[in-house]
Amino acid sequence: MKYKRILLKLSGEALMGNRQYGIDPERLSEYAKDIKEITELGVEVAIVIGGGNIFRGVAGAMHGMDRVQGDHMGMLATVINGLALQNALEDAGIKTRLQTAIKINEVAEPFIRRKAMSHLNKGRVVIFGGGTGNPYFTTDSAAVLRAIEIEADVILKGTRVDGIYTADPEKDSTAVKFDRISFEDVLKKGLKVMDTTAFTLSQENNLPIIVFDMNKKGNLLKVVTGENIGTKVNQ
Ligand code: UDP
Repeated sequence: MKYKRILLKLSGEALMGNRQYGIDPERLSEYAKDIKEITELGVEVAIVIGGGNIFRGVAGAMHGMDRVQGDHMGMLATVINGLALQNALEDAGIKTRLQTAIKINEVAEPFIRRKAMSHLNKGRVVIFGGGTGNPYFTTDSAAVLRAIEIEADVILKGTRVDGIYTADPEKDSTAVKFDRISFEDVLKKGLKVMDTTAFTLSQENNLPIIVFDMNKKGNLLKVVTGENIGTKVNQ
């Protein structure tokens, strides 16, 4: 196993499958199977889940909503996704804990770093909901922050595209994929991997990021066994 402890970042949109909104139960159960496969090999898995399939604070602000109020809604959206993911993982026979950055004690544990690490040591999958708990941040920042806190070896950013390209491959057919790229080159070339806050935090803490296509079955396993898929960003 190339990585012992991983932080998997899934966007809210990833949970939509082919829908326009909300959560696709089939997509969730496919993710659960992929995650189960790697936990059975002894990989410790923590997950940060986004909320963009339900609500984004920025989108609310564009329609005149108070930004902080909208961000609170966005953070709660990530908790809804976390509960759905937890359900799918438990259905697949995986032991899980959901920890949230905003306390909702009847529903989930509060985020406590030492507890999270102890769950991981026991082979439980830990889902982190509620982002960082602060407005004006994203779940990408939460992913990097939690990954550093729990001493994960790598952040795996599961997306719809299979890596980082010289240009947007959905718009430019001449775009070429990088197998590996340095933090510095991502910044120099102005490529989008994560928002700047998240990306800088990762760079400063020398935490590698792998961007890969999570929607292809078996890809997660390939990444954790060190197969050269997706794009790896490191120093
Ligand atoms: N959010 C926030 N603070 C955080 C993380 C998320 O306020 O630390 C809010 C923000 O409004 C964001 C929404 O939650 O738009 C959903 O998160 P994100 O956009 O990162 O989800 P994703 O794009 O990964 O689905």
